[in-house]
Amino acid sequence: MSVAGKISRLSGAAANLAPEISIVIPVYNEAANLRALWSRLEPVISALGRACEAIFVDDGSVDNSLEILRGFAAGDPRVRVIELARNFGQHSAILAGFRNCAGDIVVTLDADLQNPPEEIPKLIAAIDAGNDVVGGWREERQDRTYRRLASRLQNRVTSAIVGVPMHDYGCMLRAYRRHIIDTVVECDEKAAFVPALANTFAKRVAEIPVEHAERAAGESKYNLFSLAHLSLNLITGFSMLPMRALSLTGIGIFMLDAIFAIVLMAHRFIYGPQQEGALWTLFAVLFFFIGLIFLALGLIGEYIGRIYIEVRRRPNYIVRAIHGGDSAEPSAPRTHG
Ligand code: UDP
Ligand code: MG
Repeated sequence: MSVAGKISRLSGAAANLAPEISIVIPVYNEAANLRALWSRLEPVISALGRACEAIFVDDGSVDNSLEILRGFAAGDPRVRVIELARNFGQHSAILAGFRNCAGDIVVTLDADLQNPPEEIPKLIAAIDAGNDVVGGWREERQDRTYRRLASRLQNRVTSAIVGVPMHDYGCMLRAYRRHIIDTVVECDEKAAFVPALANTFAKRVAEIPVEHAERAAGESKYNLFSLAHLSLNLITGFSMLPMRALSLTGIGIFMLDAIFAIVLMAHRFIYGPQQEGALWTLFAVLFFFIGLIFLALGLIGEYIGRIYIEVRRRPNYIVRAIHGGDSAEPSAPRTHG
């Protein structure tokens, strides 16, 4: 980490000691949970014996979450509160936290006590062991059955499209190294799914089992519609699969149609013209055009996909450090588009 980089990240941070670990917590109407959360989180970060900061991101709460958080900040210099102008969603709130935190290791945590703060040292130990990203894995997830089943399917799909297999992409109890955070922030995505995005930039990824509790108080902020929205974001944000499927469907229909036409012709040669022959020929012609339409849509999709990849401006590669030559110490990570 270059000294200049560190200083620029810290300007604006209240802490006079450079935090080594940042805990980022998105908060949306969690007034009923916050005191219990802080009373469990505070001893955990104190016991780490390393400089820590807790970044609470108030995602436009309409209850008195913000007042409670400001109370924490007034009473403890390690606490900072990022107040967002309205509700932007959990992942955007986490990104706001990432942009405003200074630690070399960044841990994310839900505010509803579903992720026990007592698990944080395990995650940090796994990062210290050399991993870039460490995900919590809720082996015994305490949520509704439909969410558990949907999440199993979602994890399969996400693992395939991100290319990093994980049991639990949805668990927000996770830890990241600084260079991953910097890259994710640099992507500046409008519809990011943070764990998946981070994994695309990590070399060593680990998953460790963590406890999962029922929500301490209040209701989940996600309904079926917002979960579907998140899944669609994930699929379209990480793959060209839906468009490729269109082109492939077109090609498939063409191939079936060719076989169908050959059968029709053979039939005509063997049995001569039939009364209903014209109808079947019409079918063959129809399928030809349906295939053409699918293929055309798919091809247009491919071009739009390419434009999408360009405007998205995700880095193609990340130089983590340059060793040897004149550089006395590894230089700061740099990303390239
Ligand atoms: N959250 C947020 N903004 C939102 C929705 C949720 O900051 O628009 C926070 C919420 O306060 C909690 C975390 O994201 O700390 C997870 O939300 P929730 O518990 O509702 O999700 P679930 O556990 O049901 O997936
Ligand atoms: Mg929850």
